[in-house]
Amino acid sequence: MNTADALPLAGRTAIVTGAASGMGAATARLLAARGARVALLARRAERLVDLADEIEKDGGVALAVPTDVTSTESVAAAAALIRDDFGPVDLVVNAAGTMLPNPIDDGRADEWTRMIDTNVTGVLRLTKEFTPDLLAAADAGRAADLVNISSIGAHVTFPNYAVYGATKAALTQLSANLRTEFGPRNVRVTNIEPGLTDTELGSHIDNAELSGQLDQMFDLIGPLTAEEIAEVVAFAVAQPRHVNLRQIIVLPTRQA
Ligand code: NDP
Repeated sequence: MNTADALPLAGRTAIVTGAASGMGAATARLLAARGARVALLARRAERLVDLADEIEKDGGVALAVPTDVTSTESVAAAAALIRDDFGPVDLVVNAAGTMLPNPIDDGRADEWTRMIDTNVTGVLRLTKEFTPDLLAAADAGRAADLVNISSIGAHVTFPNYAVYGATKAALTQLSANLRTEFGPRNVRVTNIEPGLTDTELGSHIDNAELSGQLDQMFDLIGPLTAEEIAEVVAFAVAQPRHVNLRQIIVLPTRQA
């Protein structure tokens, strides 16, 4: 086996948001294991430092960059730090997200704002900061990737998840439209829509009934693992640069 086979992402510089847990952490770990240098972004600094240590112990290169994607200043500061340490980035994975279901008539504007600001505007903040890097990499003839973790929730309707579903529909539509601007300039945009996956996502629900309902769905269906989603991300970004898997739906087999 030659090095390219063993480390298909050698020479790539990645950032992964939501790297403190779940899909983001699993993706960061796998991209690093496949040869990419990885900047880890989320709010919980300790988690990021532990993951960076773990990656380095396994022979990878990682940088913990505590960041709040709902803050333009925080994202700009993270970008400056990453460029100082790693130089320009050629692979951006937007996995940070939050899911806060409640009946619409509860009028939880606090939750709506948090979901919109994290799941949609957060992705825009990252996109704005790193578009010049991605275009430069593509211009230089190298692979350049923007990967957005949307959700099957972009397509299905479910009571009490209206705003979460709306943010994911927006993200899926954003990804498709970004392709029309980036694709002609050789930057890939990959939108991944997972179904039920075993992560911390449901742990922020403050409605006991809805939390219980979600637990039941997990028991009934049997979720994917975060590592399985990470495999999909790593597969997509390791394709030859003219191949763009633009839309991927990954469901547990039993999820209708
Ligand atoms: P997790 O809750 O485990 O991961 C979410 C991550 O986002 C955490 O690391 C969290 O870290 C980070 N995050 C949340 N808010 C912010 C913020 N303001 N700034 C920076 N980072 C933030 O859940 P998942 O791994 O499941 O979620 C990953 C993505 O997958 C999300 O976009 C989610 O919507 C999507 N998804 C999940 C599905 C599932 O069944 N689990 C199904 C379909 C899609 P911290 O709190 O430290 O900031």
